[in-house]
Order: sequence, then structure tokens, then C-alpha cells
Amino acid sequence: MPWDWPGLWGSSRVRGPLWIWIWLSSTLPFLCIPINEVNLLDSRTVMGDLGWIAYPKNGWEEIGEVDENYAPIHTYQVCKVMEQNQNNWLLTSWISNEGASRIFIELKFTLRDCNSLPGGLGTCKETFNMYYFESDDEDGRNIRENQYIKIDTIAADESFTELDLGDRVMKLNTEVRDVGPLMRKGFYLAFQDVGACIALVSVRVYYKKCPSVVRNLVIFPDTITGADSSQLLEVSGSCVNYSITEEPPKMHCSAEGEWLVPIGKCMCKEGYEEKNNTCQGCRPGFFKASPQSQTCSKCPPHSYSHEKASASCVCEENYYRRESDPPTMACTRPPSAPRNAISNINETSVFLEWTPPADTGGRKDVSYNIVCKKCNSHSSLCEECGSHVRYLPQQNSLKNTSVMVVDLLAHTNYTFEVEAENGVSDLSPSARQYVSVNVTTNQAAPSPISIVKKGKIAKNSISLSWQEPDRPNGIILEYEIKYFEKDQETSYTIIKSRETEITADGLKPSSPYIFQIRARTAAGYGSFSRRFEFETSPVSVAASSDQSQIPIIAVSVTVGVILLAVVVGFFLSGRRCGYSKAKQDPEEEKMHFHNGHIKLPGVKTYIDPHTYEDPNQAVHEFAKEIDASCITIERVIGAGEFGEVCSGRLKLPGKREFAVAIKTLKVGYTEKQRRDFLGEASIMGQFDHPNIIHLEGVVTKSKPVMIVTEYMENGSLDTFLKKNDGQFTVIQLVGMLRGIASGMKYLSDMGYVHRDLAARNILINSNLVCKVSDFGLSRILEDDPEAAYTTRGGKIPIRWTAPEAIAFRKFTSASDVWSYGIVMWEVMSYGERPYWEMTNQDVIKAVEEGYRLPSPMDCPAALYQLMLDCWRKDRNSRPKFEEIVSMLDKLIRNPSSLKTLVNASNRVSNLLVEHNCLGTGAYRSVSEWLEAIKMGRYLEAFVQNGYSSMDTVTQVTLEDLRRLGVTLAGHQKKIMNSIQEIRVQLVNGMVPL
Ligand code: AMP
Repeated sequence: MPWDWPGLWGSSRVRGPLWIWIWLSSTLPFLCIPINEVNLLDSRTVMGDLGWIAYPKNGWEEIGEVDENYAPIHTYQVCKVMEQNQNNWLLTSWISNEGASRIFIELKFTLRDCNSLPGGLGTCKETFNMYYFESDDEDGRNIRENQYIKIDTIAADESFTELDLGDRVMKLNTEVRDVGPLMRKGFYLAFQDVGACIALVSVRVYYKKCPSVVRNLVIFPDTITGADSSQLLEVSGSCVNYSITEEPPKMHCSAEGEWLVPIGKCMCKEGYEEKNNTCQGCRPGFFKASPQSQTCSKCPPHSYSHEKASASCVCEENYYRRESDPPTMACTRPPSAPRNAISNINETSVFLEWTPPADTGGRKDVSYNIVCKKCNSHSSLCEECGSHVRYLPQQNSLKNTSVMVVDLLAHTNYTFEVEAENGVSDLSPSARQYVSVNVTTNQAAPSPISIVKKGKIAKNSISLSWQEPDRPNGIILEYEIKYFEKDQETSYTIIKSRETEITADGLKPSSPYIFQIRARTAAGYGSFSRRFEFETSPVSVAASSDQSQIPIIAVSVTVGVILLAVVVGFFLSGRRCGYSKAKQDPEEEKMHFHNGHIKLPGVKTYIDPHTYEDPNQAVHEFAKEIDASCITIERVIGAGEFGEVCSGRLKLPGKREFAVAIKTLKVGYTEKQRRDFLGEASIMGQFDHPNIIHLEGVVTKSKPVMIVTEYMENGSLDTFLKKNDGQFTVIQLVGMLRGIASGMKYLSDMGYVHRDLAARNILINSNLVCKVSDFGLSRILEDDPEAAYTTRGGKIPIRWTAPEAIAFRKFTSASDVWSYGIVMWEVMSYGERPYWEMTNQDVIKAVEEGYRLPSPMDCPAALYQLMLDCWRKDRNSRPKFEEIVSMLDKLIRNPSSLKTLVNASNRVSNLLVEHNCLGTGAYRSVSEWLEAIKMGRYLEAFVQNGYSSMDTVTQVTLEDLRRLGVTLAGHQKKIMNSIQEIRVQLVNGMVPL
């Protein structure tokens, strides 16, 4: 009996069966499918005929219903539960798999509970079967049932009863099965009913994909999941616009349509930054230099970007960026010039020091280059120094602010340009920034001789010749050749020669001898050459063995005898080198030494011209003879001890004309006067220092006899300072003092004691460079320190002279230091006369009692302290000139140290101060005195009682004090003590009241 549908499913008064309605109202939300599922078929959404085939015809039955929108609802039912052997097939139409190899089938169906059927039928089933058949096209419809492949038997999770229908509760089952891997383009599905009561409400066939996504700026396309349910598909992504990657980014698409395990990423390229998963160009004024940076940055200082999407910013005018500078660094510029360059000359070496530029251009890589120019002193023509000059540590790219320049020529003007540069200097067209330092090198000893050649060699003699040293640094006066038998160094011979060749004789045959040679100029000896070894030739066969011993004995005897002669000669002859003569030819002198008992004279020592038998020889050794026709005298500028001093011009052949001072020897001079006059030139000619007056030469071959020196435009320092009272800064004054100290250091290093150092003997040029002059009074400082006062008499400049030099003529560099202290005082007080109008006698007495000149007005405390140090009674505790120079250098380098002036209340004008006890002594007024001793409260009492001047104060007694109202014992004591001191000073005549 066929089933009556409505009867079986319950009565329906609405369109379609009741349960369909229940279902429909509950399925609407299901129409929203997940984004990672792509439908191949959804029976719910097919508008027209589904085109499914049922067979037998009375099996599956489509219920053609429409929903409230008149959309068809495709539902297939079958309910042949009452009949045996059911085999009802429902075939779908061909479904393209659209490339997916795994598809999912979602079935929604209801199934009647067999037990709820009337009679509990034994044939009733509660399952149905689902099959598929793959084919590339639509012609698979006709295939046989047994060709279908079973997907699964579908059972209901929930079946329903009539009761449920009555309650209007729909028990809709959803089952999902998947099939894969699919090999063909499409497939058919088939549902086989074998006797159940089923309503197949919807069939949805879909595959899963990983939907297109942008992650980490990588676009991953829609990707159909793999065939295998556990397969992860590796998918390569592509970068979004304006982004790049180093490695192709990847992500994995799971079988469930989920993106998993991203690998790699893209980065916005230069000029772009990430915003909402896209790359956006940087705004003007911003830049992004590398893909690695996250965001755009503001342009660094001194740069700009006018364009959008800038990868870098452009430097402002005159600012630069090195290739190696990071783009985030500010644009920079070349540094300004180095500052405060100072030089320190030591013979032919110059130490240059400077401070870094005020503006480093914004960079840390400032370095310095040195340009060296050799300049003609009389023209401003300069030329490059050449490669013989060495720079320590190097000439260019100096990181430190100092350099040592060595191997310069002696007594030559150089200009050094210290140039600052940094990493962008070579990018800038602007001029080099440098500070220049002009120096004049000192006289220097000659460099060692490097080439020595052997000449004739005999059994008892060796002849040698050699070349002048590379750098003679002056006129070579002679060579000294030292030689000894090899390994017998303690017994050696010295030969002096003016020639560049000698023959050493008296040698042993067949013996090796070591030779060393050095040269001497006015600046002293250079270093010995390296050792040269030569061997005498063997004795002739005829010579007896006894004879061969003779030279050995002869040499030994000679050594002994000559040694004695040398020692005696050294003390008796008074010759400068103290060696005995064993003349071989007029140009050669020879002496022998044993065990080094006789010391050779040190290099660069001052040589007293008086030690020359013939003073003319001295003057010509140390001074150039100038032809009088080269000199033009212009005017008289002063009066010297021996005649007028004139200014004029000197034009030497091949040189430019320049200004000179000319000292003349007045007519009718005695021979002694001539000697003393030229003595000064012989002394001056030995010096070579920027702070010592430079001798150009002498005229002795015609009359008048003249001494020609460099011209010092501002004349003598004392007159110059008086004329320009108060016109200079402290630093300028200290600069003058530094120059004088430097010149004096040079003199003391040479063993020269000036003995008349005073501002009147200092000359000053137009550049305010001070030079020590006036070597007329000067005396030799002999090796024996006691010899310093065995000199002829003469006027001693008491006010400038150290007490020990006045008392027992102990003139030393330490007494020059005392005089230097007085010069300091003269300079700081603009040429005031030391000790004013005090008599020489009073000065001697006051100084002996420990009184010292008070500080000049506005004098920095550090300078006054230095003066006091120069005036220490114990000459050994006075500073050395070297220390004075370095102390003044320190003050110049650190000008703030000069700001502290000597306290005005401690500075006692016009009166002497007791050494190390500033503030005691006498005073100009009663008020000044009382204030100084902190008793100012009694001023009124003093004045009212008639004590209104200092000379009346000295009369005050203790009684008077009591009368004046000074009752406190402490105050009485203080005032009486001070009065007592003033009285003592007056008695001693030290206070010029
Ligand atoms: P003197 O005989 O050295 O004391 O010189 C006498 C004066 O001549 C000095 O006080 C200076 O005014 C002047 N005088 C000496 N030498 C020079 C010079 N080189 N340049 C300028 N003036 C000088």
C-alpha cells in the first residue's frame, strides 16, 4: 500500500508539509556560509530545476514548494517503509569540482524513527547511502549503480516521531562527508534509499579554500586546500605595492582553509612607510632611507626634502654629507680654523700645539694637516719645505692637537699652517681653514757624517776622506776624528782637522781600527758618525817582529805623555778646547785620551771671545764681514758706549734690502776699545734665538768699524713702556716677559751669564717681540763655578743685581733670574724705576734686610709671586729660566689665572714690603695705616688729637694711646707694634716719606 504523504507526515494546512516550514524558518541563518568554503552546489539556492533524476520513478520524489519569496525549495523525499526490497536512487546532476581535489558534502535531512511507525515494520530502515562517480563531463548519468563508489552510509543522529510533528519540533540532521582526492573535473552524487523514511532537505557541495589575505605586507591569493585532510599547502605571497622582500614570503594553507605558519615578510621600500597593510609615501620634510626602518623620520638638522616619498634628505647649502654618513645624521660642514697655535723651538725642531677649532662643523672626525713653508726672512717669498722634513707622529690626518717637526734647517724662517679638516672638507669648495705660526729655527749642531771612504792604506797609516754632513746647519769650523784599535776603545786618539780628509799614522800593521768623525760649527759639535772599520796592511816580510812592536810601545808612551800634556795644557793654556797640540799640518790637531779622563767640551757652549789670542779671529769665526758699500745709514737713533747707534738698510748681494741697526765705533778709538766693541759682536754672533738680538755682521775692513744687527722698530723696552703707559693687556705684557725669559733660557743653556739684564737692555720690535741685547758687560761662565767672579770690575747695576752678585760678585744664571724679576716689575709697572728714588745704598740695605719691591698696580698675583720667587735670597731656590718660561706659557694658555690681582689693601704703593709678609710696613695716611691693621675705629680719635700724618704717628706712646681711648690691651699691642715697625723702617732709611 503506497503511503499517503500527508497522512504519513501529518496533516498540512499550509503550503507544503508542516515540517518543511519549521525547517525553513530555522535554516535562513545557515545561508551565510563561512568565507573559506566555496559552494559547488547548494540545493537551497538553485532557482530553477535541479535536474536530479530519481529511479525508479516512484522512489525519491521532489516536493516542488516555494518559500514566501516564491523561491523554489528543492526537497526530495522517499518513504517506502511498508514495502520490501527498496532500492531507490536519486542522482544529482554533474557537479564541477572547480579544481578542488577534496570536496565536502553537507546533507540536511530528517529521518523517521522506525519504532514510531505503526506496526513497527521489520522492513523499515533508518539509514541511506551516499555515492559518487567521477567524470570529466556530463555523460556519466547512464552508468550502472555498481560503478558508483560509496561514500558512506548516512544515519540520522536524531529521528523523529509523530509526536514531534505534533509538537512542531523539527529534528533536522546535518551530516558532512568529504571525498578526495578527486581526479576528474567533476562528479555525480547519488543517494540510495533502501527502505527509510527520509526527507533530503538540502544538499550543499563545497570545497574549502584559504581566502586571499594580506599579512605582513604580503598578498596571499585564494588557495584551494589540498587533497589530503592533513596536508599543509605552501603558498608563496607577493609584496604589496612599494614594498620589497629579500626572501619570497610564504604561508601555509591548511586543509581546513586556515592560513598557518607565515614565513618572511615584505617591507615598505625607501621613502614609504606601512599604514593599514599598505605602503604610503613619506610626507615632505620626512624621509625613510631603508626598507628596514619602520617609519618615516623627520629630516635631520641642516637638510630638507620637498618631495613626497623621499628616501633621503638633501643638505642645505654649504652643508654636506659623506657617503659613509648615515642618512639620519645631520648634514655637516668643514671645521673652522684651529686656534691658539703656539710653537716651541728646540734647535732645528719645532713643537707645534694648538686648540681645536671653535666650530667642528658638527662632526667628531676633525683632523689636522701641517703645511710647512720655508720663507726668506727678508722677502715674503716662501717655498714648500720638501721631503727632508719629518713630522712626528705624521704630517697629515693628525688626531691630536700637536706635532713635532724635526730636521728643519738651522736658523731659517718657517711658516707652518695648521689646517683643520673633517669628513666633509673634501666635499666643500670653500677655502682651507688654517692657523699659521711663524718660527725661526735656532742654530743647531751639524748632522752626523754619513759617508766615510778609506784612501791609502799602509802598514802604519790609514787615509780617510768624508763628505760634509747632510745638514751642516752652519759653517763647519772643523772636524773631529776619533779612532782606536778595535776592542781597545779606552785608549783612543782624536785628530782635529779643517779638511775633509786625514791620515792617521802610527798605527799597528795588520790591525783593524775604528774611526768616527763629527763636525763642529759655531753651534757646537754634532753627533759622531757611525763606526767605520779599516785595517792596516801587513808588515813587509823584511820587517822584524821586534820592529813591529815599536808602534804599539810608541802609542802607549804617546798616550801617557800626551795625556799628561793634555791635562796640564788644559789648565794652563786657557784654550777653549783644552787640548795639547800635536800638529800634523797647520789644519790638523791631534790629542789622545785614556779611560776617558779628559772630557770633551759639550756642544753648544758659549765661547768667550777673550780666550782667543787674536780677537779678530774670534770676530771672524762668529760674525760675517759685511762690505760697507752694502750699508746705507739713515739716521741716528741712540747713543752707545762706543759711538752712535743708527738705523739704516742692508742690501746684501742676491738678497732683498732690509732695515738694520748699525752701531759705530767712534773715531780715535784705542785698540782696547776696538776689541771691546767687536767683542759684543763675537758674543752676539754665537747666539741664534728669536728672543736674542740677531747679528747680521760686522764691518772691520773699512772705517768706521760697525756692528750691524736686526732693526727693532720700537727701540728699548723701558722707553717704549713709559711712552705707552697702560696701553697693553696683561696678556701682551706677559707675552713680552715670556719672550725675554725664553731668550734668557737660551743664554743660560749656553752657559752665558748676562749680568746686565734690565728693561733698557731689551729691544722690542713692531710685533712686540722682545729680544735680549747689550752683551757689552757680559762675562764668561767658566767650567769652574768659582770662576764666575774672577772678572774685571765695572759698574754694577745695583737695582737689577742679585745681593750675592753685589756682595761678592757671584754672577750666575740665578743672579740673571733676580734681574729678570726686576725686569718683570719694570714691565708690569710700565717702565717705572725700581725702588724709585732710593739711593743705591738704601736699596742694598733694604734688600739685604728682606724687603722687596711691592707689587705694581693691577698686577696679577701669579706674576707678583713669580717676581718674589726670583728675588729669593737663596739663589738655589730661585726658579730656573726654563721653569719661568713654562710657568708663563701656562699663564698665557690659561688667561683666567691672571684675573686674580694682588689685593689692593696688600699692595703698598711707594713703599717696600717685607718679603713674605705683605701688608706690613709704612703707609701714606693715618687712615690707610689704621685700616690696614684693622684699627680704623680709632681714626677719629687720632685725627682729633692732632695725629693726622704718618710722621706724627711715629711719636705716639702707649700713654698717648690710653689718652686716645684705646683701652683694650690687644689693640694697644697691635698699634704699638705697627708703630714700632714704621720707626724701624724710617731709621733704616727705607721709606722715602
Ligand atoms: P746700546 O749701545 O746697545 O745700548 O744701544 C743704544 C740705543 O740704541 C738703545 O737704547 C736703542 O734705543 C738703540 N738701539 C740699539 N740697537 C738697536 C736695534 N737693533 N734696533 C733699534 N734700536 C736700537
